[in-house]
Amino acid sequence: MTAKILSGKEIAEAIKREVAAEVALITERHGVRPLLAVVRVGEDPASAVYVGSKVKTSEELGMLSEHHHLPVEATHEEVLAIVKDLNARPEVDGILVQLPLPAQVDEREILETIDPAKDVDGFHPVNVGKLSQGQKSLVPCTPAGVIEILKRSEIPIAGAHAVVIGRSNIVGKPMAQLLLQENATVTVCHSRTKDLPAVAATGDILVAAIGRAGFVRAAHIKPGACVIDVGINNVSDPAQAAELFGPDEIEKRLNTIAKRGFTLVGDVNPKEAKEKAGAFTPVPGGVGLLTVAMLMKNTVEAAKMRRKL
Ligand code: NAD
Repeated sequence: MTAKILSGKEIAEAIKREVAAEVALITERHGVRPLLAVVRVGEDPASAVYVGSKVKTSEELGMLSEHHHLPVEATHEEVLAIVKDLNARPEVDGILVQLPLPAQVDEREILETIDPAKDVDGFHPVNVGKLSQGQKSLVPCTPAGVIEILKRSEIPIAGAHAVVIGRSNIVGKPMAQLLLQENATVTVCHSRTKDLPAVAATGDILVAAIGRAGFVRAAHIKPGACVIDVGINNVSDPAQAAELFGPDEIEKRLNTIAKRGFTLVGDVNPKEAKEKAGAFTPVPGGVGLLTVAMLMKNTVEAAKMRRKL
């Protein structure tokens, strides 16, 4: 069997087109342009890339954006003051504090200070609570993107057994809640799960959000399952790459390692998934592309809810 590859590109583009149309509509009808404010502290290169892409995409879709960049030595109070100021400004619809934050800044207090109505990352306890109660809320972007991939690829969720590997607050737990809301039967696996491959292999839908390159192998996959790979890992060892990629892809990957020093791989072994799954998402080009698209969607949602449009 050769699994179908579920590309995130077309789905992310479709969502962005829908968001742009909605932005145009509310701008025309209500004279409002949603505003996303992003706060970044320090010089983490990955954070700089993510924030750049969030700001650029929001502008491409017709929204307004602000980028507040503080030096790595910024104090907790300075970051807190920016968040409070953004909370108080009525024209700001969405606030996103890019993680990770430097050690002197208390991440939890910062995230809990964000006005839940502007919490476009969906990490505030009020939004987490609403999600668990099935109330309308701002939902974390990455798991929300996974649901979009499943729905738009016509993968049945209701009644399916969905297995989520990973229980982080950012991906695993909200992923499980969203699948439950869609009427899947949900199992959550983690580092203490006994005989994890056997449990994973009962999933019609298998979501991997672990942070370990190629962790999910053939033994974890039910034949024909839909495998969603959330992981983003760097692999720099050509021998490890050879374990993960077949003849169709290995040369490209080895070239990337030679050029950049690493290649991006997910938590799933794509060579084995291709043989055993019914469908799977590639890395790069899968779930990762949905995260920014869903942030844009959340920003418009926040604008509509806050402003009662
Ligand atoms: P995390 O480190 O916070 O959580 C990892 C989870 O995996 C934990 O709950 C842990 O229990 C579980 N785990 C770790 N080792 C395990 C093992 N050996 N067996 C079973 N479970 C194990 O990570 P996270 O923030 O949830 O991210 C997970 C992955 O998803 C990372 O690779 C991250 O880079 C990626 N990610 C991607 C996006 C995206 O936009 N595509 C967004 C967020 C995170």
